[in-house]
Amino acid sequence: MTDLTGRTVLITGASSGLGRHFAEVCSAAGAAVALAARRTDRLQAAAEAIGRRGGRACAVPLDVADEASTLAAYDAAEAALGPIDTVIANAGMNLEGLATDLPVEDFRRILDVNVTGVFLTAREGARRMIAHGARESGRGRVLLIASIGAHTVLPGVAAYCASKAAVAMLGKSLAREWANRGVNVNVLCPGYIETDINADWFASEGGQRQIARFPRRRLMADSDLDGLVLHLCSDASRGITGSVFTADDGQSL
Ligand code: NAP
Repeated sequence: MTDLTGRTVLITGASSGLGRHFAEVCSAAGAAVALAARRTDRLQAAAEAIGRRGGRACAVPLDVADEASTLAAYDAAEAALGPIDTVIANAGMNLEGLATDLPVEDFRRILDVNVTGVFLTAREGARRMIAHGARESGRGRVLLIASIGAHTVLPGVAAYCASKAAVAMLGKSLAREWANRGVNVNVLCPGYIETDINADWFASEGGQRQIARFPRRRLMADSDLDGLVLHLCSDASRGITGSVFTADDGQSL
């Protein structure tokens, strides 16, 4: 149910945190993986580590907010590994600040990376999957990484929450458009996992108080997402498209 042998997966935001983890997990499940982000030194190190363990991986520079960069990243990934049939649109960012203090430039930047970036990544992936015969094979897979902020208010990050709600609806809309083109689109809304995006916050008193309010009084581990991610990227998820999954250890309850 989680075998990715023969698949080629492009993962955005693979230079750190969840994206790097997803690349390792997909590789361990048999996929060739293209790691994409802006910090190419980190991507290169991650791709080499996968190579040393016997996997096929390449590093491609990508700014998800830039259309030309997105096309170039797919070109580079396909030149190195062959046609992409699976995409994990994971790259994302946050800029903290109460709405009354948030400069419009910050609001726009969050939407640009978290929403437009996900759209460009998914659109280019689907175009290529369809061109490579997804309609006939039914094997195209696109997984969008949103957040529990898509459906739950996370205090102090209004723009981030709005962007993630947009990702959830974008995923459902794209799934409807591509249902008869062999490309499944699903959305994953993880709870809090410590990565660069939130490490400073969870080291603070406020962050510790937030953890104490979670039903299990803990952060998740990145490995808590592995089963869902692999299932949604594999042939086993043939009949699942347009679904929004929450995996949050009960944090939003
Ligand atoms: P992270 O460690 O900060 O990783 C963010 C990744 O996104 C980095 O690899 C970064 O790479 C990439 N990125 C940012 N802007 C980019 C751009 N313009 N173009 C290309 N790549 C860009 O944080 P993370 O926790 O792993 O976050 C990954 C995703 O999970 C995000 O969408 C986040 O919203 C979501 N998420 C995280 C949590 C959590 O608790 N950690 C919970 C729910 C959802 P470069 O800087 O090298 O470009």
